[in-house]
Amino acid sequence: MSSSSTTPSSNLTDDEQQQPTTRRIRLLSLHLNPPLHHPHNHHHLHLQACSSRAKMDVNADKLSAYLRGKHRDVQERVFEYFNSRPDLQTPIEILKDDYRELCMNQLLGVVREAGIRPFRYVVEDPAKYFAIIEAVGSVDMSLGIKLGVQYSLWGGSVLNLGTKKHKDKYFEGIDNLEYLGCFAMTELHHGSNVQGIQTIATFDPLTDEFIITTPNDGAIKWWIGNAAVHGKFATVFAKLMLPTHDKNEVSDMGVHAFIVPIRDLKTHQTLPGVEINDCGHKVGLNGVDNGALRFRDVRIPRDNLLNRFGDVSRDGTYTSALPTINKRFAATLGELVGGRVGLAYSSVGVLKIASTIAIRYSLLRQQFGPPKKPEISILDYQSQQHKLMPMLASTYAFHFATVHLIEKYSQMKKTHDEQLVADVHALSAGLKSYVTSYTAKSLSICREACGGHGYAAVNRFGSLRNDHDIFQTFEGDNTVLLQQVAGDLLKQYQEKFRGGTFAVTWSYLRESMNTYLSQPNPVTARWESEDHLRDPKFQLDAFRYRTSRLLQSAAVRLRKHTKTLGSFGAWNRCLNHLLTLAESHIETVILENFIEAVKSCPDANSQAAMKLVCDLYALNLIWNDIGTYRNVDYVAPNKAKAIHKLADYLSFQVKNIAKELVDAFDLPDHVTRAPIGKQSPGEAYAEYTQFVGF
Ligand SMILES: Cc1cc2nc3c(=O)[nH]c(=O)nc-3n(C[C@H](O)[C@H](O)[C@H](O)COP(=O)(O)OP(=O)(O)OC[C@H]3O[C@@H](n4cnc5c(N)ncnc54)[C@H](O)[C@@H]3O)c2cc1C
Repeated sequence: MSSSSTTPSSNLTDDEQQQPTTRRIRLLSLHLNPPLHHPHNHHHLHLQACSSRAKMDVNADKLSAYLRGKHRDVQERVFEYFNSRPDLQTPIEILKDDYRELCMNQLLGVVREAGIRPFRYVVEDPAKYFAIIEAVGSVDMSLGIKLGVQYSLWGGSVLNLGTKKHKDKYFEGIDNLEYLGCFAMTELHHGSNVQGIQTIATFDPLTDEFIITTPNDGAIKWWIGNAAVHGKFATVFAKLMLPTHDKNEVSDMGVHAFIVPIRDLKTHQTLPGVEINDCGHKVGLNGVDNGALRFRDVRIPRDNLLNRFGDVSRDGTYTSALPTINKRFAATLGELVGGRVGLAYSSVGVLKIASTIAIRYSLLRQQFGPPKKPEISILDYQSQQHKLMPMLASTYAFHFATVHLIEKYSQMKKTHDEQLVADVHALSAGLKSYVTSYTAKSLSICREACGGHGYAAVNRFGSLRNDHDIFQTFEGDNTVLLQQVAGDLLKQYQEKFRGGTFAVTWSYLRESMNTYLSQPNPVTARWESEDHLRDPKFQLDAFRYRTSRLLQSAAVRLRKHTKTLGSFGAWNRCLNHLLTLAESHIETVILENFIEAVKSCPDANSQAAMKLVCDLYALNLIWNDIGTYRNVDYVAPNKAKAIHKLADYLSFQVKNIAKELVDAFDLPDHVTRAPIGKQSPGEAYAEYTQFVGF
C-alpha cells in the first residue's frame, strides 16, 4: 500500500481538497475521531510504522475476554439501550434543570424500559451491581451517581441498617423507583466528622414517635443527592435521644439512621416541617439534584428507626448487641463501605475512558519530524510516552485491584466474617482514595496530552474531569480515608508485637518487617540485570520493604511525640508520614494483585503483554521514589540508573502495543470517540466544528 493512501488526506473529497480551511478542519476531525474500522486503517498502519523494534503479538479480543469478567453482558445491555435512545443522550450544552430531568429520565429508562433492576444485586451479587454502575457512569457520570444515591446509599441504608420489616415495606418501591430517596448524613458544619453531626431524633413515649429536629443552621443536611427535586424519602442520620427517668433529661445514644418521608408520595408536595433548598449549580454532576434539608420537629413512627444495630422498645428502652456508642457507630459506617467500593471501581472506568481517548489521539496526531521526513506521531515522543504509558499501566493495575476488592466485598456480604469486614473497610478506604486521586490528576494530564483539541468539550475531558473531581471528596475525603488505612496498619503492627496475627491484607508485613530490621543486602543492592529487575520477587520486596520501613519509623515517631503532644498532636505531627505509609501500602496491594492477575492469565500472548505492563507499573513507581531507596542503600547508584533506563524502555515497548491494550478495554465508540450517538466521524466532525464556531 502506498504511503499516500494511508494519510488522512486520502479521505478527503475533491471539493474539500480545494478548500484549505475545510480541509484542515476535516483533517483535525479525523485525528480526533479516527475511522477505526476503515479498511485502509491509517491508525493501524501508523501504529506499525511507529514501532522500530519487533512488536509483541497481542490479540485485543483475547486480552479483553480476560479483563471483562462475567458481567459484561449487563454492561452491553446498558450501552445498547442508550444507543437505541438518542433522545436520552446528554448533549454537550444543557441547562441545570433540563439536565436533572434528563438524568431522571435516563434512570427511569434503564430501570423501567431496559429492565435492568440493580437493587436486588446490591446484596445478592455486588459484582453485577458494580458492573451496572460502571456502565451507566461511563455513559453519563451524573446518571451513575444518581443511580448510586438511589440504590447504594438510600436503598443500601435500608437493606444494611434496617431489618426485615424495612425490607418488606420499602424494597419494591426503591427497586421500581416509586420511592426515590436520599442519604442525609452530611451537615453544613460537619462532613468528614460524622460523629459531630447535630441533628437530633428524640423519642416521644407518649405518641410512640421520634421527633426529628435541626437544632441550628450548622445542622442543616447539606449536599444531599436527590433532595432538591426528586426524593420522596431520606435516610437521616441523627443523634438518638432517649428520655431518662428524670423527665427533664435525655441521654444521647449516638448516631442512628431514620427513614424520614420528605415529599408526599402522590402530590410530591414537601411535607409539613420539612424545608428543602437547592444546593445550586455545581462544578460537575449537574444532572444530580443536590439539596439542603431542615427538619422542624418532624414526627416519624418508631418503626422508622433503622434498627439493625440498636433498637428502642415501646416503653423507650434501648437495646443493642453492641455495648458502646463507638462500636455501634463503627458497625453502622462499616455497612456503608459499598459506596466506596463502587466509587473506586467506577473511577477506574473513568481512567479507562480518558487513557483510551488520549492514547488513540496520540497515535494519530503528528507533529514535527526529522528534516525532509514525514511528521511523527506524538506518541513517539519520549515525553508523551512518559505521560501516558505509566498511566496505562496503572489503569490495568487498578482494574485488577478493584476487581479483587469487589470479590472480597462480595465474600464479606455472604459470610459477615469479622476479620474480612475489617480488611474490606481498610482496603476500600485505601483504594477509593488512591485510585480517585490518581484518576483526577490523570484527567488533566490526558487533556494536556491532546493539546488544544483536548479542550474541545466534544472530546469529553472537561466533563470527565469536572464530574469525577468530587470522587476525591464524597464517600469519605481521601486524606481522611488514608488516615484510616494508616491507623489500621499501626493497630496491626502493635498487635504483632503483642504476639497477635496480621489480617490477610497485611500479612506480607510479617516477613518484610523482619527483613527491614536487618540491613539491606549490599550484594543484591547492586544487581542490575533486566531479569532481576523484572523479577516479581525483586519488585514486591522493594515495595514491601518501603512500607515496612515507613511503618516502623511512623510507630517510633508517634511514640516519641505522644509523650509531649498527646496522641492527637502526635498524629498531626506525623500526618504526612502516615499518608505516605498508607499510599505505600496500597501500592503494594495493587502490585500484588497485578502480579497474580498476570500469573493467572490463560492466554500466553496476553500474559506476555500484561507482564510488560506490570513491570512498567512496578519499576516506574520504584523510580519515582528512588530517593527513599537510595537513602538507605536499598539500591546502589548503578542499580538506580538501570531501573530508570529499563522503565523508559518498557514505556517504549508498551507504547508499541498501546492500541491493543486500550482496545481490550472494549469501550463502546460513543463513550470514547464522540458524543453519545454520534457514531460516525462525519457526525462527530459536524458537532465538533459547530462547537468551535466554524
Ligand atoms: C456533589 C456532592 C454530593 C454529595 N452527596 C452527598 C449525599 O448524598 N449525602 C451526604 O450525606 N453527603 C453528601 N455529600 C457530602 C460529602 O460526603 C462531604 O462533602 C464529604 O464527606 C467531605 O466533608 P466536608 O465537605 O465537610 O469536608 P471537610 O471535612 O470540611 O474537609 C475539608 C478539607 O479538610 C481536610 N480535613 C478534614 N478533616 C481532616 C483530618 N482529620 N485530617 C486532615 N485533613 C482533614 C480534608 O482533607 C479536606 O481537604 C456530597 C458532596 C458533594 C460535593
